[in-house]
Amino acid sequence: MAAHQEKKPPGERNRKSAQNGSQTSQVQWGRAWEVDWFSLASVIFLLMFAPLIVYYFIMSCDQYQCSLIDPLVDLLKGNKHLSDIWNKTPALTYRAAGIYTLWVTFQVVLYVFIPDFCHKFLPGYVGGVQEGAITPAGAVNKYEINGLQAWIITHVLWFANAYYFHFFSPTIIFDNWIPLLWCANILGYLVSTFAMIKGYFFPTNATDCKFTGNFFYDYMMGIEFNPRIGKWFDFKLFFNGRPGIVAWTLINLSYAAKQQELYGQVTNSMILVNVLQGIYVLDFFWNEAWYLKTIDICHDHFGWYLGWGDCVWLPYLYTLQGLYLVYHPVQLGTANAIGIWILGLIGYYIFRVTNHQKDLFRQTNGNCKIWGKKPEYIECSYMSVDGTKHYSKLMTSGFWGWARHFNYTGDLMGSLAYCLACGFDHILPYFYIVYMTILLTHRCIRDEHRCLSKYGKDWKRYTAAVPYRLLPGIF
Ligand code: NDP
Repeated sequence: MAAHQEKKPPGERNRKSAQNGSQTSQVQWGRAWEVDWFSLASVIFLLMFAPLIVYYFIMSCDQYQCSLIDPLVDLLKGNKHLSDIWNKTPALTYRAAGIYTLWVTFQVVLYVFIPDFCHKFLPGYVGGVQEGAITPAGAVNKYEINGLQAWIITHVLWFANAYYFHFFSPTIIFDNWIPLLWCANILGYLVSTFAMIKGYFFPTNATDCKFTGNFFYDYMMGIEFNPRIGKWFDFKLFFNGRPGIVAWTLINLSYAAKQQELYGQVTNSMILVNVLQGIYVLDFFWNEAWYLKTIDICHDHFGWYLGWGDCVWLPYLYTLQGLYLVYHPVQLGTANAIGIWILGLIGYYIFRVTNHQKDLFRQTNGNCKIWGKKPEYIECSYMSVDGTKHYSKLMTSGFWGWARHFNYTGDLMGSLAYCLACGFDHILPYFYIVYMTILLTHRCIRDEHRCLSKYGKDWKRYTAAVPYRLLPGIF
């Protein structure tokens, strides 16, 4: 671990904390103790409307050829009532329930019962048992990193079925998309509600729980930091990565298969979306150990935001481009296809290199080379709730010297490339870039608020050294 630590007597702790100039006590970093009205309003808005937003997008494709405007026009003109739309919506079926149960169970089995073997033969891949970051309570969790293996096994079986066994059609996901939506919602709500009850009655680590006193906020943002069942079933790692992200590439493959079935060919835009998003997903699993150090695992508590979000929001809305292309098979001109490909690859390059630079820097405690030179950094300190003082470093070299979140900038470029592959006839595929821009901008602000309360004056020195967030010279 990059951070090292020392225990201080309580008086010393408070004095140091005040000296460091933090606006909130440093022992509270990572915990929103007071819920402001804006956060509460956002939470209630999302709890009420996020499921409807997902339904609206998927229904628009199913009933209105992916037009987001036509359903509204129909409703406003009185051509249709809400009940007409609802009655045309496919219901939950036993078949979908069976597929979904089998899918989630299979992913649980891969996660819990098959220890990683990929790290034994893939050079450079970090898998097997790995440590997470220090939690606000000072704990360090161990994780079994076997996501790449789960992804490979799942996809090998998928292709074996599609080309050899033919047990089920590769369009199975598309064909059951709305009935599966109900299953995903049931799991999303069950797991979030269970996580809340668990947080109150049998938390994995009571000192890492966060109670704001506001039911809605706690339900959404979570109480427990790292809820687990047994020693290894970690809710955050499982639900974030699988079933949602493993499913992402399968869902896209199912869309490609549907295009083939409907039109006798797969368009170059569909291939672009499959390949670019496939690279992103594979990158995620190749770097799953790195993922332990990202905000989702390091700082977010597990509630509806992660539980329902991973089960429903991610698989349904991150795959909208492929869904759209089933209804509108766009064949791009060569120049456009190459332009989008290059944008996607540059975005991915920036995303990967920036993330890698921070990971390398933190893993080696700054004893590494960034762009051929010893990295520059700002020394900083913080306290965990048990009163231990830790030391850390914030790098100001490489892409981290250009902007404080240049990894997000690369991510946004890649996201734009997926959307552009769908052409300009409809706005639905552009939801992703709008959403990612809001998500990552909000994430910058959320992360910086947390870092300020964690590092205090040291964080201010860092923001003075690297003044921009996403775009050097602009924002
Ligand atoms: P980061 O990986 O950027 O992690 C932020 C943390 O890194 C900070 O809280 C701080 O943690 C540490 N840090 C900040 N600045 C520095 C620095 N200069 N030097 C060293 N450490 C620093 O953020 P995320 O976890 O949000 O994102 C990880 C990746 O995942 C990004 O590329 C993002 O684009 C992607 N992502 C994708 C999403 C999607 O839905 N597709 C959603 C969210 C993220 P500490 O307390 O340890 O100092």
